Amino acid sequence: MNSKTKIGIIICDRYRRCAGGKCLRSMRNKEGAFSIYKDTAVELVGFTTCDGCPGGNIEYAGDEMVKNGADVIHLATGFVVGYPPCPYINKFKAFLEKRYSVTVVVGTHPIPKKYLDMHTSLGTWEDAAWKPLIEPTMSDELTRANYD
Ligand code: SF4
Repeated sequence: MNSKTKIGIIICDRYRRCAGGKCLRSMRNKEGAFSIYKDTAVELVGFTTCDGCPGGNIEYAGDEMVKNGADVIHLATGFVVGYPPCPYINKFKAFLEKRYSVTVVVGTHPIPKKYLDMHTSLGTWEDAAWKPLIEPTMSDELTRANYD
């Protein structure tokens, strides 16, 4: 990666009123999915929502972010912690990577403890297919509690 990585963040539209606090905090602290940038400066070049199911803004947002220099697009943690999680995560990731030759990372801030507790109780992520989707944001117990 370059000495500075430009990133775009797409959030689930269910959280469209979110001011981005957790995502921006974790980006600054290099926590959760942003821990991959521990030795790299990052610059946010785009932040928007998918515009609601089934994600009509994914195409436009990807285009605009890449034109603005995005090296990596993050699908925010809300995609995996929502009730239910977004059913299109893998489709969005595959589309963005294929269409714009950009790296897509699933997740932004660490999974908050309350969401891990509820999804564990619901059995949401028991299927092995979820492992790579939640791994980047699982973090440790203390960090998860700090994002509640
Ligand atoms: S569940 Fe998926 S498609 Fe629906 S609003 Fe959220 S991110 Fe968009």
